[in-house]
Parts: sequence; structure tokens; C-alpha cells
Amino acid sequence: MRIAMVSEHASPLAALGGVDAGGQNVHVAALALALAQRGHEVEVYTRRDDPRAARRVRMAPGVEVIHVRAGPAKPLPKDDLLAWMPAFAADLAQTWADPGRRPDVVHAHFWMSGVAALDAGRRCDVPVLQTFHALGSVKRRHQGDYDTSPADRVAIETALARDVDQVVATCSDELSELLAAGAEHDRVSVVPCGVDTAHFTPEGPTALRAGALGRGSPGRRHRLVTVSRLVERKGVETIVRALPVLDDAELLVVGGPPAAALHRDPEAIRLSALADDLGVLDRVQLVGRVDHGDLPAVLRSADVVVATPWYEPFGIVPLEAMACGRPVVGSAVGGLLDTVEEGVTGALVPARDPAALAAALRTLLDDRRLRERWGRAARVRVLERFGWDRVAAATERAYAEVLGRRGRSFAAPVMTYDESLEAM
Ligand code: UDP
Repeated sequence: MRIAMVSEHASPLAALGGVDAGGQNVHVAALALALAQRGHEVEVYTRRDDPRAARRVRMAPGVEVIHVRAGPAKPLPKDDLLAWMPAFAADLAQTWADPGRRPDVVHAHFWMSGVAALDAGRRCDVPVLQTFHALGSVKRRHQGDYDTSPADRVAIETALARDVDQVVATCSDELSELLAAGAEHDRVSVVPCGVDTAHFTPEGPTALRAGALGRGSPGRRHRLVTVSRLVERKGVETIVRALPVLDDAELLVVGGPPAAALHRDPEAIRLSALADDLGVLDRVQLVGRVDHGDLPAVLRSADVVVATPWYEPFGIVPLEAMACGRPVVGSAVGGLLDTVEEGVTGALVPARDPAALAAALRTLLDDRRLRERWGRAARVRVLERFGWDRVAAATERAYAEVLGRRGRSFAAPVMTYDESLEAM
């Protein structure tokens, strides 16, 4: 089938280049590739934010990225993009007016993509599925006055959940949130985000050897790793606050700007000052952004990977850590409630609770066998549930259900690209 993905601010090409790649870029890129591998034709529509970008870029066999003219061809803050969605929708509708270019289904990623996709989908009679990636109601609850989203976001999301053909939520916590906002249960499918299980593996090189921070300290220090954008809600502060009682542990903080720019980053400055106040600065290292390709080696250097956000729509990093065979201690929020299996692959603690975090980490750091057992179980859980091939198959079922409701069907792909190559 021909699938159009709309991802207005998060280009899948950024994910491959490793620059500014957040969870949504990685998700859209990997899902598009996995659907193409199942024999579908995928076009990803994203806003043109670089004047040198060609209209169509072939990303991989079966996947094209289409740069849509909507607003100035330069990066714009996400919160300023709503004004350009009518132009985005007009471009989509014009492209899909040609029956030869019209997709069978549209899958919108993030609420503003949904606004453009629903408008164009209605004009061209194409069904629309919506993945929110993050919900404005949750952001508002946690960030209050600091939430810079457009004022209408929550109302628009509620309307979208009602008006699209199907919502594809990424976790059960999001399903509950959508139901509370009035969505109909049978119009919401839950399909998790996935992880590249061939890239994130337990075996392979290990970067930044554990204990490297222990200048002059006796013995080997335990290594905690956290990977996160440097924003307050990701809760790195909670880990720093747990460190004073974990005097045999060091913390590696990956993410944020490149290392050379960390000294100007407000959150990096705040976290370093806090670590200094708590007397743990010599055990905290902020390394800045690490290329996605180098992350497995960094995750493998961890005794435990820690993810303690205040809230988290899904959270791909815990899955990446689990795929590397590492136990995860995380906040009991959002997608972590589905990915981390309490007492089997990791531990969940209340968000913003350094004492609870320290206690969970203490248990794990004192027991190498437990860490190894949870790490092995984590890898198995990822292979069973979160490989992109499985996620793509579940997404395809949601597409088929929507088409079925409209009395349409699609020819099931007979062979994947890999199989067709083998057959040659
Ligand atoms: N990431 C990366 N390098 C970094 C920091 C993050 O490649 O220095 C990747 C990380 O591996 C993950 C994504 O960015 O795939 C972050 O996704 P997540 O859902 O955990 O958080 P988000 O940034 O979307 O809130």
C-alpha cells in the first residue's frame, strides 16, 4: 500500500544524520524503513527548513522524504509552526489531488501534523491515523506556566482524537489519558515505539570505560548512565540528588549540545552547580551529545541505565538500554510503565524522589548477578515485543482496520525487500 507519513518538524533524515535527533525523528525514520521492508511504499512529508533541500529525497528503497513548503525555509521553534499548517495542508492536498500520488492511508506524527493531515485527508478522501508522541494535557499538568505550547493545543488534540480515523497511541498510559479526554476505546490502537535490535546489542565495544571518573579514588566505581535532552523535565537532577548516598557510583550524563557548547547550556550549568553544592561534582560527567551510532557503546559501559523524567510520552532510551542488555531504573511514568518490567528487567520508582531512586540503585549496585539477570531479561523482552519489524506489523494492522472500515482493502505484501533480494 502507499503510506504517507506527515512529520511536520521531525525529519527522518535528521535521525540518520544524528543531528538534533529526538525520539520522534528516530521513530518516523525507523517505522518508515520497517514498513518499506514489508513491501509498502512510504512517503514522509516534512517541513522544508533548509533552502538547499530538494523537494524529494530518496532515503532508502521504498522510502522518500518530501520537503513541504510551509513558512520560511529555515529552522523555526516548534511552538511557532501552527500558523504554517494551512500552507502545509494545501501542499499535501495539491499533491494528493493527483490519483497517481494519492496515498491509501496517512499517518500523522505530532498534533500539528494531524491538523494538516486531517485537512488534506478530508479534501482527498484519504483516511488519517494519528500518533501524538506527546499530549498537551500532560505537558500542561507538569509544566504549568512554563508550557510554551500554543494556547489551543489541548482543545485541538481533543478534536483530533475524535475526528481522525484512528489514534495510534504508544503506551497504555497514553490510552488512559485519551479515554479520559473522551476518545472512543475502539478508535485507539496501542502500538509501542520500537528499537533497532541489530544496532543496540549487548555485545560490542564499550566506550568511556567505567571508573574513568574515579581519579585517585580507591577501587572501581559503579557506572550509572543517563541519556537525555538537557531539559528540566527529564529529571537528571533527581539522579544527581541521589548520588551523595551512592558514594561508590559515578554518573555519565549524555545529551544536550555538543561537548564544546555545554558551558553555555543553562541546564548543564544548573546541574553542575547542584552537583558542586552536593559535593558530588567529581562523580558527575556531562559529555554532551553523542552520535546515535556511538550510543550502544556508551550504554554498554553502564552498570545501570537511569531514566527519571517527571513524565514521558514513551521514552526510547530505556528500550535502547534494554536492547543492550542493561537493567533500567526509571520513573514509574508514561511509556516506562510498559517497557520496564518491574523486578524482571528493572525497577520503577516515583518521579522526583531521589531517596527512592537511591534505594533502588543501591540494591542493584550491590548485586552483580541481579544486574546481569535483569539485563538478560531486558534483551529478551525487547526482542519479543519491541523490534521494529513487530512494531511495523502492528502498525500495518491498524492501517488495514481503518481501510476495512471504509470498505477498502490492500494487497498484503508478498515479500519483503530482504526476501526479494535473496530470491534474486
Ligand atoms: N539521542 C542520541 N544522542 C544523544 C541523546 C539522545 O542519539 O546524545 C537519541 C536517543 O538514543 C533516543 C532519542 O535521541 O533514540 C531520544 O528519545 P527519547 O524518546 O528517549 O527522548 P526525547 O528526546 O524524544 O524526549
